[in-house]
Amino acid sequence: MAFRQKHLLGIEHLRPEEITTLLDLADQYVDLNRQDMKHTDTLHGLTQINMFFENSTRTQASFEIAGKRLGADVMNMAMQASSIKKGETLIDTALTLNAMHPDLLVVRHPHSGAVDLLAQKVNCAVLNAGDGKHEHPTQALLDALTIRRAKGRLHRLNIAICGDVSHSRVARSNLILLGKMENRVRLVGPATLMPSQIGEFGVEVYEDMEEGLKDVDVVMMLRLQRERMDGGFIPSEREYYHRYGLDADKLSFAKDDAIVMHPGPMNRGVEIDGDIADDINRSVIQDQVEMGVAVRMAAMDLLARNLRAERANKPVEV
Ligand code: ASP
Repeated sequence: MAFRQKHLLGIEHLRPEEITTLLDLADQYVDLNRQDMKHTDTLHGLTQINMFFENSTRTQASFEIAGKRLGADVMNMAMQASSIKKGETLIDTALTLNAMHPDLLVVRHPHSGAVDLLAQKVNCAVLNAGDGKHEHPTQALLDALTIRRAKGRLHRLNIAICGDVSHSRVARSNLILLGKMENRVRLVGPATLMPSQIGEFGVEVYEDMEEGLKDVDVVMMLRLQRERMDGGFIPSEREYYHRYGLDADKLSFAKDDAIVMHPGPMNRGVEIDGDIADDINRSVIQDQVEMGVAVRMAAMDLLARNLRAERANKPVEV
């Protein structure tokens, strides 16, 4: 099998053929999810724990549905309200959970690198559901599947990632994935919202939407991440919408069949016009949500196969 990972911590660890293997399997789960009978016993007997140290609506729900459809026992830990508030360290929490023998641990954490650290301390497969500004691998994979299904391929496409790049783990994971699959990615947004090490990614950067969207196949909008800003990154939301909010005028610079994406949650009237977001001829935002469940099913299926294979070769220590 062309997927050898023990954990899904970031796109940076995946080879292009592993990405393709995962997306091919996810395509099969899309078909399953569209049937009345959506249940399989792929993860039967396994325990999945979702630990979200940061608020999440769609990602947590998506992982929960994915695990349940695969037959796992799924448990959501409300980490905001848990012993973390009482001063327990991340590692203590991980070790406590580990003693309950989970098989899959889905973790979201506000600090970059926290999920990698946790993965080193537990004996199960860990999936990164977003760590700080670092990575959000299942988001990039679901975006890739959405693009592949809409455009019929995932290479040699012109893709613009627009808006608040500097605070976005979605942008980072997408940049890495789309680059690995040999697309031409460009970033569009104000200089104040571009990361300082942008040169390392070898992509074109535009401050102007008209130039940045010219001839692109995919327009990927990002949420303005107010909660990660501690100062004046933009003059005002009104001014930001005027210059960078995606509306029909700005979209007209892209190719006629360009698709519009957004990872959610959306700020309508800030980074995107409501009519564009709802335009079923251009926007694939609802498809992204649908693909999210399928991609998470595929990721957990592949990791569980590797986990079972590893355990079968290794006697359990007593
Ligand atoms: N839901 C995505 C994330 O968790 C995007 C966002 O919050 O803007 O990173």
